[in-house]
Amino acid sequence: MKIDGFELFLASDGTFKLDGGAMFGIVPKPVWEKYFKSDEKNKITLGTNVLVIRNGKNVALVDLGMGNKFDKRLEEIYEIKRSKNLLQDLSDKGVERSDVTHVFITHGHLDHTGWATSYNHEKIEPSFPNAKYYMQADTWKEIKEPNQKTKPNYNYLNFENLEDRLELLNGDEEILPGIQLIKSGGHTKGHQMVLLRVGNKTFIYFGDLIPTSAHIKPAYVMAYDLYPMDTFTKKIEILEKAFEEQWTLFFEHDPVTPTAQLTDVESYSLKRVTI
Ligand SMILES: [Zn+2]
Repeated sequence: MKIDGFELFLASDGTFKLDGGAMFGIVPKPVWEKYFKSDEKNKITLGTNVLVIRNGKNVALVDLGMGNKFDKRLEEIYEIKRSKNLLQDLSDKGVERSDVTHVFITHGHLDHTGWATSYNHEKIEPSFPNAKYYMQADTWKEIKEPNQKTKPNYNYLNFENLEDRLELLNGDEEILPGIQLIKSGGHTKGHQMVLLRVGNKTFIYFGDLIPTSAHIKPAYVMAYDLYPMDTFTKKIEILEKAFEEQWTLFFEHDPVTPTAQLTDVESYSLKRVTI
């Protein structure tokens, strides 16, 4: 979509699988199975929808898929499938690594930070040589100080040699005209969303606060969330505004409906839209 000097589109790093029960928390399987069919191991297929925002010389990416720094064991767990990876998809869509000026990271989990770094022969380097990487200071702290519960959610190779590229934020901040990072908490303490206001339109990228369109109802909170009541409260607050102003909603992990708008805020009904 082109709007007021901005260009918005999605790129993808393919699909991967996670346990359906963990993805839907307290929601019973007969309910979530209406949205996602599970395989024989109870896993469901999820997308990796990366938002690209181009405005003049600025090219921003929101989150970075799974990447290519997995060992065999993790590859088997996540069952990553792709016809091409994120870097190839970006290149096909006219974005080279060196074009990227801003990387907005919602939080540090391995399915959001995969291409933060990549191998250059044996050495790990930032994938985007001209970019600053923006995350909340709390996210960096969560990455640096994991515990037994949180550690399996990170791939530490994604942060190797990245530290001097980081811009750590403390709360909400407008990074570029019209582009705001909003600290939401909930899923992790430092989790942030990206809000874009262009002309009379507003777009929001939820990250893992609302990972798929099937998670639109406030009580549909993933079992992965560290602060589920904060997720619940934040969703109610943000969806109220999103309905009133008819925002376009981006769902990072939805393989079928990456963008939608709310048609009703009591039943949380959605209509699919395209950008
Ligand atoms: Zn996450």
